[in-house]
Amino acid sequence: MSIVVQKFGGTSVADRGLILAAARKAIRAQLEGNQVVVVVSAMGKNTDRLIQLAHDIHDRPPAREMDMLLATGEQVSVALMAMAIDSLGYQAVSMTGAQLGIVTDDSHTKARIRSISTTRITEALAQGKIVIAAGFQGVNERSEITTLGRGGSDTTAVALAAVLGADRCEIYTDVDGVYTTDPKLLAEARRLSQISYDEMLELASAGAGVMHNRSIEFAKKFSVPIYVRNSLSEAPGTMIVADPESLHRAVCGAALVKDQARITLTGVPDRPGAALTLISAIAAKNVAMDMIVQNVGEDGLADISLTVFRDDLAMALKAVEEAAAELGVLAFNHDDDVSCVSVVGLPMAEQAGVANRMFRAMAEAGINILMISTSHIKISLLVARESAVEALQCVHKAFELEREPAASTLAATARPPRAPGTARPARPSNNGAVIVSKMQGMEGLVIEGITLDESQARATIHGVPNVPGLAADMFDDIASSGINVDVIVQSYSDEGTADLSFTFPRENFDEAIATARRISERFGCKPLSNCPQIALLSVYGIGLRSHTQVAGQMFESLGAAGINVEMINTSEVCISVAVNAKQGAKGLAALEDTFRDVML
Ligand code: ASP
Ligand code: MG
Repeated sequence: MSIVVQKFGGTSVADRGLILAAARKAIRAQLEGNQVVVVVSAMGKNTDRLIQLAHDIHDRPPAREMDMLLATGEQVSVALMAMAIDSLGYQAVSMTGAQLGIVTDDSHTKARIRSISTTRITEALAQGKIVIAAGFQGVNERSEITTLGRGGSDTTAVALAAVLGADRCEIYTDVDGVYTTDPKLLAEARRLSQISYDEMLELASAGAGVMHNRSIEFAKKFSVPIYVRNSLSEAPGTMIVADPESLHRAVCGAALVKDQARITLTGVPDRPGAALTLISAIAAKNVAMDMIVQNVGEDGLADISLTVFRDDLAMALKAVEEAAAELGVLAFNHDDDVSCVSVVGLPMAEQAGVANRMFRAMAEAGINILMISTSHIKISLLVARESAVEALQCVHKAFELEREPAASTLAATARPPRAPGTARPARPSNNGAVIVSKMQGMEGLVIEGITLDESQARATIHGVPNVPGLAADMFDDIASSGINVDVIVQSYSDEGTADLSFTFPRENFDEAIATARRISERFGCKPLSNCPQIALLSVYGIGLRSHTQVAGQMFESLGAAGINVEMINTSEVCISVAVNAKQGAKGLAALEDTFRDVML
C-alpha cells in the first residue's frame, strides 16, 4: 500500500480548530487508500516560549537539558493530534522520537539523524492506524533526548518518507508554496508550480526561508518528492522534485540576504595552504561563510573576500586577525553595510548570456556591484544594503520571473498525487537502503562527483573602479560574441577597487582578451592579466555548505599535494577552484583520494 507522510508546522497546529483541520486532512489521505504518517511541530510559538523559559532561569542552559525541555513541545502536539483523530472516529497512535526509532548523533540542540528503525511505525500502519510522529526530536545511542535544530520537523518528515519509501512528503504550512522571491518583499512574486532540489537548496541558502535545508538534502538523496501546500486552503502548492519548472528559463527565483558583512584580506601570499589557513580559522569559530572569492593576485599576492552574516562579523574578524598574523598578511578591511542578491536556476548551467542580464539590470538601476560569485546554477552579487530591495526588484523584472513559463517549456511534471487504488510507480534505483549502507549516518556527506575541466582560460581585470556598469558592458560584449563564460568572480580589493576574473573556452582566447582589454581601458583599470589555460576542479555534492568541513578538506588536500589555488568559488551544491593547468590531473587525483569514502 502506498504511504504518504504529511507534516504540519507550528502555525498549522496552533489551536484546536487547526488541529482538527489537520486531522481531517490525514483522515482524507487514509480514505484515499494510503497509509498515513503525520509529523507535527510544536504548537504555534511554543518552542520560542520554551526557549524563553530556559533563558529566564539560566544564561547558558546546558544543551542536554535544553533538548529535554524543547522535545516537550512536539510531545504536546502529537498527543493532541492523536486525540483529534480519535474524536473523529479514526484510529491514531502518537510516538516520540525514541518510539519512532530515530537515532541521532550526540550534538544536543543540533543533532543529525544516524538511523531510523521503522518496525514500530510499520506495525502501527499495518493495524490501520494513522501514526502521529513528533518532529524535530530523536535519541542518541544512550537514549538521551536530542533535537535536530530549529525548523527540524521538516527533516523528520522527509527522513521518515525516505526510509518508509513513501510516495510523497506533503509539507503543510502557512504559505501557498515556494515563490520566485519572498512575497513579503515583492508583491509581484509568483508561486512556482515546481522547483528542483538543487534550486531549492541554493535559494534557501541565498535567503529564501521556506524549508529546513537539511530536509531538502535528504529529499534529494532519497528522491522523495515534496509537496509544499497551504494548510488552510486548497491552493495547488509547489512540488520539489528533481526537475525544474521550466527547462528553458535560465532562472527560477531570486533571493536576498539583507544583513551581510564583507571581509577582505589583501596581499595574501599566493601559495598552497593560504586559503586553508584563513577558512579553517573562521570555521573553527563556527562562523558560516557565504561567498568566498579568491582572485588571482598581482605580484604573487592574492585577495580573498568573503561574506558572513552581519551578526557573526565580530567573531569572524577575530579569526581573520589570527589568520592574517599567521600568513603575514599586510591588511584586511571590512564593510558591514552590505546585502547579497542571488538568482538561481538549473537551466542556466546550459545557457550563455545569463550573468550579463543580471549585471545589466544593476547597471541600469545605477547600483554598484561590490562582489560577484557565480556557480553553475547560482549568481550572487554583493551590493550596498540601501540598494538591496531595489536590486532584488530589478533582477526579478529582468528575468521576467512574475510571468508563468509558456506551457510548451514546462519540464515533466512530477508525479501528481495518484488516484486511489492505482499502482505505485517504481522508485528510482537510487534506493534508500543502498545509500544508507554507504553512509555512516543518514545525514552524512555525499559527494556526487569530482570533475576536471582543462578546456578553459582565464582573464583578470585589476583595479575595477567602484562605479556601476563595468560588469554589464564586459559580459554583454562577451555574450554577444557568443563566448560562453563559466566562472565569474569579483573580489573587493583595497582602495575601494575590485578585481574581476572570469573563465572561458580556450579557443576564444584572443577575442575574450581583446574585449576585456577594451572594457578595462574604457573604465580606466590597471593592466589585465591572464592565463591561456587553467584547470578547473569542481566537487559536486549534497550539503556542501552545511558540512562546513568540505571546503577545508578540499584546500587541505590540494595544499598537501603542493597545488596552489588561484580562484575559489563556493555554492551549496558545488565548490570549484582554478589551479595551474599543469596541476589539474594531480589535483583531481588528490581530491578523489580525499573524498573516496563519501563518493556516491
Ligand atoms: N518546533 C521546532 C521549532 O520551532 C521544530 C519545527 O518547528 O520544525 O524550531
Ligand atoms: Mg516551525
